Amino acid sequence: MFHLFLHALVPLILSVLLAKHWFKQPWYKVFIIMMLTMLIDLDHLVATPIYDPLRCSMNFHPLHKLWLVPFYAALMLFKPLRAVGAGLSIHMILDSIDCQVNQGVWFHSAV
Ligand SMILES: [Zn+2]
Repeated sequence: MFHLFLHALVPLILSVLLAKHWFKQPWYKVFIIMMLTMLIDLDHLVATPIYDPLRCSMNFHPLHKLWLVPFYAALMLFKPLRAVGAGLSIHMILDSIDCQVNQGVWFHSAV
């Protein structure tokens, strides 16, 4: 539950702090875009079971694969996609921290 709270708190803090000078958009627009990047968790729908609180998402779910992370980060290089890239990157970092807290690993060792 604390993990989910962080998925809202961290984007909120960053959108408020960086909206004006880095995102160059109102903070609430940046925050809404970052919240919409949570839709990436729809990839959990193809997992069995759909929700497992102790499962490590990183590198397990299709949109949480490690090789995608640099592409998510690269989105921040393009101003119109900056908030999307930041939202996805923050999401991956928080999910990875969740793996570390729950299982002592930074990502799932995919087969
Ligand atoms: Zn996730």
